[in-house]
Amino acid sequence: MLEFEEALARVLAAVPAPTSEEVPLSEAAGRVLAERVQSSLDLPMFDNSAMDGYGLRADDVASAKPDSPAHLRLAGKVAAGEVFTGAVTPGTCVRLFTGSPLPSGADAVVRQEDTRVESSRAGEVLILAPARPGENVRLRGGDVKHGSTLAEAGEPLTVGRIGLLAAAGLTRVRAGRRPVAGLLATGSELREPGQPLAPGQIYESNRIALAALMEHAGAVPRTLPLVADVLAATSLALAEAFDQCDAVVTSGGVSVGEMDFIRRAFELIGGELQFWRVAIKPGRPFAFGRCRGKLLFGLPGNPVSALVTFLLLVRPALLRWQGAANVSLPAHPGVLAEPLANDSERRHFMRVKVDPRGKVYSAGAQASHVLSSVAAANGLVEVPANTTLTAGAAVSVLRWE
Ligand code: AMP
Ligand code: MG
Repeated sequence: MLEFEEALARVLAAVPAPTSEEVPLSEAAGRVLAERVQSSLDLPMFDNSAMDGYGLRADDVASAKPDSPAHLRLAGKVAAGEVFTGAVTPGTCVRLFTGSPLPSGADAVVRQEDTRVESSRAGEVLILAPARPGENVRLRGGDVKHGSTLAEAGEPLTVGRIGLLAAAGLTRVRAGRRPVAGLLATGSELREPGQPLAPGQIYESNRIALAALMEHAGAVPRTLPLVADVLAATSLALAEAFDQCDAVVTSGGVSVGEMDFIRRAFELIGGELQFWRVAIKPGRPFAFGRCRGKLLFGLPGNPVSALVTFLLLVRPALLRWQGAANVSLPAHPGVLAEPLANDSERRHFMRVKVDPRGKVYSAGAQASHVLSSVAAANGLVEVPANTTLTAGAAVSVLRWE
């Protein structure tokens, strides 16, 4: 039985080198950037006003107060998107709006709230407050300098990053190709949700959850038909899955029972099992293999085991396949509000609820068939073998949503 780190290292070592493709920025969210992107622009591209107000020379208003305003002559108006062709000379100002280019000669903006226009003094603006040079001015290059790196190869194309790339004028980026991952659920007891159930049958629930996790990880899920616990049917389904997909994720049929056919079926179609069984709870009977340059992830059928092994061992592989530099689950510090006990010989990834202040509670019963505690959970805490973490213990919460 492999330790988790060893299993993960072997999975990642088997992932094919990423390839990339050009995609419209509008379709790039959630994908992995394949090459460094440098800015061909300064952002902001020109000095501009941060406020609706008046562009002026700070010197002219150094001693302005509400009861002794500075009187400036209004020399023009610049809407956002326009430019002022003249210059702000001593004793003058220009009406500006947020984003208006700062006219030459001006070095500060006084916000509209600190000014007054009197109908009896047309063409004049009363400035009621002083301004420091640079006040309310957004400087060219103050956000991003021309030539600087906007994002590195291997970084996720987050919402923030695609916004930044658009601001720098990009319309397309190179992203890691998304692996197509087949989803095959095995078990003669399984029926599609919505179908009538005979006694002893249950609804299949792993594929829908795993498909959503695959999408989150940037892969392309392909949900395949249910497979009965029959060796021939299992090998046929696996062979067809490997024809269509880069990776095949199975659930169920990977344990020690005589009705567990995944490993035998995989070897029958020419697959090479790399390892089986990992010292984690839930999810010990995890199988990993290679077949014609493609990968098999054999997850246990218990829904919680399938979820946890996917998060710990499949998600990292799907991300690395796209070239992601960081393939770990996001982890946040938390403090246990109640004890978490693991009396097993294996480390236990326990379902927890973490509140916005970092207080961590058990999400409920921890048996590997209990889905209500998966639904209640928003994270996992790893509890070492034969260990009780006491209330008040600092923990790292692995998040998946
Ligand atoms: P197995 O790993 O095939 O021995 O299955 C372990 C347990 O998980 C059994 O109780 C199965 O009925 C259940 N199970 C297996 N696959 C699924 C699935 N796709 N959806 C829901 N339950 C499942
Ligand atoms: Mg089964």
